[in-house]
Amino acid sequence: MSSHPPFDFTTQTVHADRFGGAPQGAIHAPIHTSVQYGYERVEDLIAVFQGTAKGGFNYARQGTPSTAALEAQLTQMEQGLGTIAFATGMAGICAIFLTLLKAGDHLVCSQFVFGNTNSVLGTLRDLGVEVTTVDVTDLDKVRAALRPNTRIVFVETIANPGTQIPDLDGIGALCRERGLLYVVDNTVASPYLFRPATVGAGLVVNSLTKSIAGHGDVLGGSVTDTGLFDWSGYPNIFPAYRQGDPKGWGLQQIRKKGLRDMGGALSSQSAHQVALGAETLALRMERTSATALALAQWLEQHPAVGRVLYPMLPSHPQHAWAKQHLKAGSWALSFELRDPAQCLAVCNRLRLPIKATGLGDTRTLIIPVAHTIF
Ligand SMILES: *Cc1c(COP(=O)(O)O)cnc(C)c1O
Repeated sequence: MSSHPPFDFTTQTVHADRFGGAPQGAIHAPIHTSVQYGYERVEDLIAVFQGTAKGGFNYARQGTPSTAALEAQLTQMEQGLGTIAFATGMAGICAIFLTLLKAGDHLVCSQFVFGNTNSVLGTLRDLGVEVTTVDVTDLDKVRAALRPNTRIVFVETIANPGTQIPDLDGIGALCRERGLLYVVDNTVASPYLFRPATVGAGLVVNSLTKSIAGHGDVLGGSVTDTGLFDWSGYPNIFPAYRQGDPKGWGLQQIRKKGLRDMGGALSSQSAHQVALGAETLALRMERTSATALALAQWLEQHPAVGRVLYPMLPSHPQHAWAKQHLKAGSWALSFELRDPAQCLAVCNRLRLPIKATGLGDTRTLIIPVAHTIF
């Protein structure tokens, strides 16, 4: 059975394995545990190594039929050209930076990004990559940050944890005009609430750990090529990956350098768990967004609370854009107390929300960001 565009998001997602042709009529793609792959003829083995065999598997570090099934499901969700699954979201982000940037290149990155992403920027600077962090809600500041050696602009759809939303359309148009690779981390929004391809993103990152797997019991990350970026003009593609249709060059290089060489591979077992979580993404995002909005509205009325940051509150600086372009506000909300000295005491007094080391679970979790991930 093949895929038909009229199917809605969840129907398409839950039937992804079948549309991909799972063997023996299996409704779920099997968990393939083999690390090595054997071939009848050594010529077939050579073809797999040289990348000329269609669909042949090499070594599980470069992917398995189970990770390939998840990749197909994610490509469908983001309506892209192809996807690479990684062990974590950070593995995916590092693979993009380390395989596509060289010393002397310039990266423009949102100043509102996940703490660990921000930490990677320091590593890049040590390796000789120039990095500028900017307020991406202001298009003029992004434009002013560009240099002749700028290669990539990196933003988060809804920033973790401050929920700032970049001028996504404006930056997309700017990147298209200047031939820059626009990378959008869609972790908090997820492809159900928003597809970065609609604003011209070339690559989309998702930490599968958060929205997509959703249950706080598995790590994963992904990089999806939307097909919108022209890789033939990108100077850092090695000759070995300038093979075939230029549309595939970027992912070829990221898979070979970022997955095969750097090794941040997702296991088949984890791929299955992520794919299972993904089936209920739409249901969970609707519910968690409704809960977060109710909580944000309640907090905004509370006399001890100062600022509440949540895209679906009219007080949010990018509320008008969010209301028009996001299906809902997602699970991330931040708030400040009128008396910041009370932060730890207030966290400790909460009975239901779990004081936890991260975000993205079926449970309500809370973390004092200034003392931890920042
Ligand atoms: C959590 C997170 C990441 C990192 O994902 P891991 O799977 O934990 O490595 C990257 N970006 C954003 C926006 C995140 O929230």
